[in-house]
Parts: sequence; structure tokens; C-alpha cells
Amino acid sequence: MSGIRQRVGVRLAAVRMTDSVAILGATGSIGVSVLEVIRQHPEQYRVVALSAHVNRAALARQCAEFKPELAVMACHNEAQKLIHDLSTTTPDTRVLGGAEALSELSECGADIIVCGIVGAAGLCSTLSAVRTGKKVLIANKEPLVMLGRLIMTQARAHGSTVIPLDSEHNAIFQCMPQPQDSCVPAAACAADIRRIWLTGSGGPFRQLPAAEFNRVTPAQACAHPNWKMGRKISVDSATMMNKGLELIEACVLFSLEVDDIKIIIHPQSVIHSMVEYVDGSLLAQLGVADMRVSIAHALGWPRRIASGAQRLNLMECGGFDFEAPDHARFPAIRLAQSAARAGGAMPTVMNAANEVAVESFLRGALGFEQIPLLVERTMELAVRRNEVGDGCDLASVLDADSRARTLCHELLPAHGENH
Ligand code: MG
Repeated sequence: MSGIRQRVGVRLAAVRMTDSVAILGATGSIGVSVLEVIRQHPEQYRVVALSAHVNRAALARQCAEFKPELAVMACHNEAQKLIHDLSTTTPDTRVLGGAEALSELSECGADIIVCGIVGAAGLCSTLSAVRTGKKVLIANKEPLVMLGRLIMTQARAHGSTVIPLDSEHNAIFQCMPQPQDSCVPAAACAADIRRIWLTGSGGPFRQLPAAEFNRVTPAQACAHPNWKMGRKISVDSATMMNKGLELIEACVLFSLEVDDIKIIIHPQSVIHSMVEYVDGSLLAQLGVADMRVSIAHALGWPRRIASGAQRLNLMECGGFDFEAPDHARFPAIRLAQSAARAGGAMPTVMNAANEVAVESFLRGALGFEQIPLLVERTMELAVRRNEVGDGCDLASVLDADSRARTLCHELLPAHGENH
């Protein structure tokens, strides 16, 4: 065994080269975690480009440490200030500003592009990234929910490898037959796969009676039992809309139909998802609830690198529980299933309505139990007014997004008035 390891070690050492990495959204939680993993492997990864939306101070610190060739701020004025910030620490870093500079960052020639930008800016830059023919790590939900089919078609056409960082989708990717060269694995082996089991913790209100949902406060909804996350995604976990959005993501990433995916509640969040094969085998990926595990997998793929995350101690895990989701208390899952079935820009309509509803809940203008109801009414009204659209390109998706937000604001007073 040691002889084999030695020989393999020599061969791997000989072919190991530095990979260049560009990070879109470097100062967000995903970007920071990516840099944490990279920091542990300085001979293996070279950071060549970083972008930030508003956090100039954090970007300046990252530039001083990683010395990228290119740094991008979303705003031109902030970019000017960043040039000044970097004049003593990293004068060789080229600084650009504005949304169009993000596409330049995607196309800067990096071997690995990490897409971690929230919102519409994330859509354009992800689309640019998958047209490079490189390895693209996608962290945010919006690009896949809103423009997933186009992103995957473009990735295949340009020979890019898309690796999801969302823990469930990364788990599914790991349990799928691995592709030989490019793109996400599913298509070639679809006949071997019976279904996907998408696991979810059930969120903080897994056992809360429906009658108490109207008393839920933003602070309670944001206190997730297993994962530390931002407020929007924490509320999505509490309503289970997060799992619904993940179902749509899984459909587009792995070319699956809605009925190929079963959502299963697993409160311990140790199994991050499973792939069931036709022979009855079920492959699962297990690990601690730490994004760095998915990030290290994706950065290193097809090899493995250390993540720096705590190791999973099975002896301390206790038992694993599984239960079916309660659709009566958590209607968001059914909404996502129907949006995925409807196709076109309906997932975009649902996502936009949900963003408006969650934001309204967080500022105290909407009850927690009203969130899925408002989303559902918005989807129905969008159909009645013929405002869904085909969602086949960026313009159509952005149009559907803004129309849905307007419709949702129109409906909001009726849902919020008793609150
Ligand atoms: Mg997830």
C-alpha cells in the first residue's frame, strides 16, 4: 500500500500546477470562505481577480493579502477610492468599476471562477462565466432558479464545468457518476438514476403547530438550528421556500424533472443529499454543516483538498431521523414544484414574489404565515395578467422579475393589513 501511495504521490506531484481563481462577490460569506480554503493551499491556488459590491475596506484588505491582477468594485466612485487604497499595498492591481467590469472579471482567463454575487448582477456575470469553458463554481440560487436552463445550455456549448456550492447540490454532484471531462454529470447516466433525495433540516419551525405561525417574529425565523446564514435565506429555511428553490436548482443543474426529486426532512443536517440508483443503491454525502467542505470539494475537483472544516464525528452524531415534509404547514414546497412544472419565467416570478414577501416580513409589514400566501397570489395574478414570459433569455427574465415585484407590492396591503 505504501509503495503504491509513494508512486502515485510522485506522479501527482509532477503534474500538480497552480490554478488561478477569480471570485465574483469576494467579500460576501461565500467569497470569504473560498479565500479561507485558498489560504491553506498557497502553492496550489493563485487569486487573480476579486470583486465586491460595497465593502471596499474588506476588498482592499483581500487585495493586500492575495495581490490579484484585477479588482472590481460595483460602483465607479468606489473603484476610484480603491485605487487610492491600494496605491501603497498593491499598486500593480488593476482596478475597474461598474457592472460591465464584472463580465471582464469573468473573462479574465482564470482557471476557476467563483460566482457568489446576489441578485441581477449575479445573473449577467454567471452567464459570462459559463461561456469561458472553465471551471465555474456557482454559489447563489438566483442564477440557477431564474436562468438555469440557459446557463447550463451555455456551459455545455462552451465546455465549462459547473460545480454547485450549495451544500445539497454539491452533495448530489458528489454522489452522481463523475463526468469524464466537462459539465455536470447527470445526462449521460440518467437511466441509471431512480431519483434524488434532497434533504432539508426542516428549519426552526419543523415542530411548531400551524396555529402559532402568525406569532412568529423575524428574530425567531432567523435563528436556524444548524446553519449560520443571512436573514433572507434563514427566513426561506423557516418557510421551507429554500428547499423549494433548491428543488428548482436541482432540476436545472442535473437535467431532472420535478418528480425525479423527493424532499426529505433530516433534522440533523449531516446527510446533505442522496442519489438513488436503479439497482437500489443509495449514495449519500455526509459532513459537518460548514460551507468550506463544498468549497474545498469544488475547488479541488476532480481531486480532493483539505477544507479546514471540523471533521464529522459519527460517534457524537446520535441517530439520524427522517420524515416527510408537512405540505399543509409549509406550502412553499408545492409552490416551487408548480413553478418548476410551469417552466418559462414562473420560477423567476415565484422567486421575486418571495423576495418581496420576505423583505416585508423582516420589516414587520407581513405576518410569517402570509409569506407563501402572498407568493401564491402573485403567481396566480401573473398568470391571469399574462405577465410570466418564456424566461428564455436574460431580458425576459429581468422583465418577469420586475413585473412580479410590482404585482406583489400591489397585493401586499391586503395580506399585511391585519398584521
Ligand atoms: Mg442549501
